[in-house]
Amino acid sequence: MSLDFTLTQEQQAIVDQVAKIAQRFDDAYWLTRDREGGFPHEFHKAFAEAGWLGIAMPKEYGGAGLGITEAALMMRTIAESGAGFSGASAIHMNIFGLNPVVVFGSAEQKRRFLPPLIKGDDKACFAVTEPNAGLDTSRIKTKAVRDGDRYVVNGQKIWISTAQVTNRLLLLARTGPRDEARPADGLTLFYTDFDRARIEVREIDKMGRKAVDSNQLFIDELRVPVADRIGEEGKGFSYILHGFNPERILIASEAVGLGRAALRRAARYAGERVVFDRPIGQNQGIQHPLAQRWIELEAADLLVLRAATLYDRKQPCGAEANAAKYFAAEAGFKACETAILTHGGMGYAKEFHVERFLREAWVPRLAPVSPQLILSFIAEKVLGLPKSY
Ligand SMILES: Cc1cc2nc3c(=O)[nH]c(=O)nc-3n(C[C@H](O)[C@H](O)[C@H](O)COP(=O)(O)OP(=O)(O)OC[C@H]3O[C@@H](n4cnc5c(N)ncnc54)[C@H](O)[C@@H]3O)c2cc1C
Repeated sequence: MSLDFTLTQEQQAIVDQVAKIAQRFDDAYWLTRDREGGFPHEFHKAFAEAGWLGIAMPKEYGGAGLGITEAALMMRTIAESGAGFSGASAIHMNIFGLNPVVVFGSAEQKRRFLPPLIKGDDKACFAVTEPNAGLDTSRIKTKAVRDGDRYVVNGQKIWISTAQVTNRLLLLARTGPRDEARPADGLTLFYTDFDRARIEVREIDKMGRKAVDSNQLFIDELRVPVADRIGEEGKGFSYILHGFNPERILIASEAVGLGRAALRRAARYAGERVVFDRPIGQNQGIQHPLAQRWIELEAADLLVLRAATLYDRKQPCGAEANAAKYFAAEAGFKACETAILTHGGMGYAKEFHVERFLREAWVPRLAPVSPQLILSFIAEKVLGLPKSY
């Protein structure tokens, strides 16, 4: 018996069709978005209209019912087209962000929430991170207090992507006291209207991916109907935990795509640029780092697809998904760095795009979980070492 590493015809068709749509948005489009900011609404709409946003959503609500493997291939292809994280992050939340609603929401909630997201009429953001909690989610302070048939929410969030343009909010808030023995209990998940009268949004001026905004949220007396609570009160953290592995798989796949986009440009430039009467790509000092980056990206892609396959087979994939996210983020970052070095001074010029890629390559390294925490997780869960966080 051998392992089959080839894509099915259907999977290859997904890659081809997604690439075709992504190609309508060229380098100049993304460079302008990177310079000026402004959400790439046309891009989001193009994928919504062609029915791609529901790739991994259940068929009965208008999705295609495919797996995280297919979603990962789609997101890799988008990043690889040159759209990078500006393109990938613009639709990332539509693809799998509402997984907790799919798995833990009621039938009524799924009927209400999923079709508009799949059609692209709704845009959602995911608000977990808080300024004073960081990676220790059990310390979040945003509070939801029950008041009859609604909750009243007060608190602050930070780094919330797309909050400038969304009309829906997936929100984690504390509804019960923090118990030292079970610190993640007492957190509750809501999916509700993004009420701008009650939520002040302040954009964070950041290094890259300007097209997809990141924000501080100041939530003041937000009213959330009980009907918008997902699952049981106090179980919210376990619901988002369920979505952690697919989230890591998708972001890893996007990092592979970004690295490939940078490598493709670097190899092309190395073949064209002549210095000392020869293309710079004839020098091993230029060739070898490019070849190393290709090998690393291929290895990262295998880790991603392995984790995705395990997830789709409903097998445990925590170590694999975390390993994929760690390795793909590092491989993507190194590919972007090598692409700049290959371009020499022109690597620093915006018109060659690779400096934009490098700035975006920080995103999968830093979020949604840091490399340090992944290494601590692998050390503990795979190598049996004492928990360190
Ligand atoms: C571009 C971008 C988009 C984002 N989008 C969203 C979003 O849409 N929604 C959302 O909720 N969040 C979002 N985030 C937040 C992101 O998930 C967090 O930044 C991330 O989880 C890290 O949290 P922190 O920044 O508070 O780091 P901190 O928790 O303050 O950690 C700082 C550093 O200390 C290290 N550290 C902390 N504790 C330990 C330990 N015990 N051992 C070793 N190292 C440790 C960390 O690894 C990290 O390097 C986004 C972030 C970015 C940059």
